[in-house]
Amino acid sequence: MANFRFTALKKTLDRPVKTVSYPSDKASDYFGSMTFNRSVMKEFLTEEAYEGVIRAMDKSVRIDRKITDQVASAMKAWAMNKGVTHYTHWFHPLTGSTAEKHDAFISPIEKGKAIEEFQGNSLIQQEPDASSFPSGGIRSTFEARGYTAWDPTSPAFIIENTLCIPTIFVSYTGDSLDYKTPLLKSMRALDKAAVDVCKLFDKNIDKVYPNLGWEQEYFLVDSALFAARPDLVLTGKTVFGHSSAKDQQLSDHYFGTIHNRVLAFMQELEVESHKLGIPLKTRHNEVAPNQFECAPVFEEANIAVDHNQLLMHLLDVTARKHNFNVLLHEKPYAGVNGSGKHNNWSMSTNTGINLLSPGKTPGDNFRFITILANILKAVHDNEELVRASVASAGNDLRLGANEAPPAIISVFVGEQVTATLDEIENMPERSMMNHKIEKDVDIDIPKIPEILFDNTDRNRTSPFAFTGNKFEFRAVGSSANTAKPMFVLNTIMADQLTKYKSEVEKLVEDGIKKKEAMFFVAKKYIKESKNIRFEGNSYSGEWEEEASRRGLSNNRSTPEALGAFVTEKSIQLFERHNVMSKTEVQARYAIKLEKYTKKIQIESRVMGDLATNHILPTAIHYQNRLIENAKGLKEVLDSKSFVKLSKNQLNTIKEISNHISEIKDYVEKMIEARKVANKITDRFEVAREYKDSVKSYFDNIRYHVDKLEMLVDDEMWPLPKYRELLFIK
Ligand code: ADP
Ligand code: MG
Repeated sequence: MANFRFTALKKTLDRPVKTVSYPSDKASDYFGSMTFNRSVMKEFLTEEAYEGVIRAMDKSVRIDRKITDQVASAMKAWAMNKGVTHYTHWFHPLTGSTAEKHDAFISPIEKGKAIEEFQGNSLIQQEPDASSFPSGGIRSTFEARGYTAWDPTSPAFIIENTLCIPTIFVSYTGDSLDYKTPLLKSMRALDKAAVDVCKLFDKNIDKVYPNLGWEQEYFLVDSALFAARPDLVLTGKTVFGHSSAKDQQLSDHYFGTIHNRVLAFMQELEVESHKLGIPLKTRHNEVAPNQFECAPVFEEANIAVDHNQLLMHLLDVTARKHNFNVLLHEKPYAGVNGSGKHNNWSMSTNTGINLLSPGKTPGDNFRFITILANILKAVHDNEELVRASVASAGNDLRLGANEAPPAIISVFVGEQVTATLDEIENMPERSMMNHKIEKDVDIDIPKIPEILFDNTDRNRTSPFAFTGNKFEFRAVGSSANTAKPMFVLNTIMADQLTKYKSEVEKLVEDGIKKKEAMFFVAKKYIKESKNIRFEGNSYSGEWEEEASRRGLSNNRSTPEALGAFVTEKSIQLFERHNVMSKTEVQARYAIKLEKYTKKIQIESRVMGDLATNHILPTAIHYQNRLIENAKGLKEVLDSKSFVKLSKNQLNTIKEISNHISEIKDYVEKMIEARKVANKITDRFEVAREYKDSVKSYFDNIRYHVDKLEMLVDDEMWPLPKYRELLFIK
């Protein structure tokens, strides 16, 4: 029997360490060199065109037709200088990855000649045949038309001779079919609501935008070993594999010295990222062996989301150049940590203030407390929706598995902020309600200790933690498009701030002084949202019980969690802020459910195939060897010695038989369960059936396969083992 595992292992032994060529000594020399950024625009555009694009970027003003032709022609000139031959609209369809369809600049003219052409029309809009992208029923296949439209707020960039133009993707009927459209709309809603509230503090604030700083975790695996594991190739995770005697117990990988093959990969990743303007800054080894993390400096959310999508692409292509494959799955290996993507979220103003920074003056602190109270209230009132925003089949395996936050959403604010909030809660309400105050008095906001800036008291177990000047949303899956948790946070915040403003206005109408009213409502939110705050260990069983007493949701699986998207409350929320229509929300719900079902279905099929074609034949083969051996012993030994000496072989033969029969049995039952599930027509019910029935066989099948891995002769085992996959030679 050919054993690909050994061929693969041999290959990993003589991998050269690739040397990385830097375009220049300093990253600042080539940073953004492959992007059509502001300084390139300034160089290539007339002043009028430049101003037009900048207005569109900063103020969302529509770009004049005349200008788009100029921009297209400038983009073409700039790109052709860099050897570009093709262009594509680059978008984020609901598959979760990015999509592109390349068209050449080349255009034939008379006499068999051709010219390079790229006009305004092709820049601003394309009409890709969209029939194979998920639409959740918004668009039937006969009405396949979808449009991509240029998003001038995100700079065009070059990858491998192709000019990529960031776009939104909508159906013929104008419904969004991507992640970017609701993200941009949620940013607009947040801007409006937050500016209205900020003006209560500072009249100069007329723009508020969310920031995102993501931290991306991933695994690397040698590409030869990857190729010898059909489960990794097809599902991105291992469906079988006995744990390695040593994996992460010693915590010796975390922040450890980076292996030279990996370092070379990271260096090239950084060069490529920097060329594309992704401000990658941090790199380190993570907790699990062969697990790593990278993080850029935070950026405005739309750009950061694009950059994260691009980074995931770069991880993939760069890894291959270094004979690695990157695993972005949330749980590629059982028994060791999975991968997440922390989303650090904050809000900035045109005046250069971070609204999540406690200030030095009482006024700044009042603003900070007000924003904080609104965030707490927003998350409190929408915790299930926040949970739903990170739901996926892969993430279900990570959340609540003692390595990542649980499926219960809670907010950690730290000791000092808690003390401040408690103090505010207990402050007397003065003469608030008797309308007698003549002067608009200053509110005595308790001072927030400076020590906060040290950022020291951290709680790594909280899904949503305040870390000094930002919230860190830690429940996001490593493969997720960050736009989704971002547009949910932006929208619930926009909604909350709108409510805050109108509550304050109502009190003012009733004769209460503005500051008093502002304080009163913030204080009320602090009280009302208390249940969402939790400072203890979120991984503990006690928290699960406590959270249930508090009435917080604990939606452990994707089908359960997704329901929060399509409640009347959520639909109205999205409609109120013009982020998504009911149709769009429902379409997304349908797509997510279907994706969940398909993921579990594929995993189940891979498991069945591997068990039947790889594991069982190997086990039988080895068992036959043992049988031969026992027969031989019987021939050479007298019967008394045979009974005594063959016990081990005979027991192993029986054990193997038992595992074989259990595996066969469970695989058959799993296939039957699939057949039952596949007959169901309701999308939710199919997903639920896959979760409750089909998936329930996974652990049993795996248990017996992993036992066989320990019994069968190592030389015969066909699949690279955990101890091989998790360590680089
Ligand atoms: P950790 O210690 O949790 O790994 P880091 O200090 O490395 O955190 O920062 C993680 C991410 O948070 C980085 O992308 C960083 O740019 C980002 N970040 C820092 N400040 C802010 C902020 N005000 N808003 C959003 N993201 C921020
Ligand atoms: Mg972090």
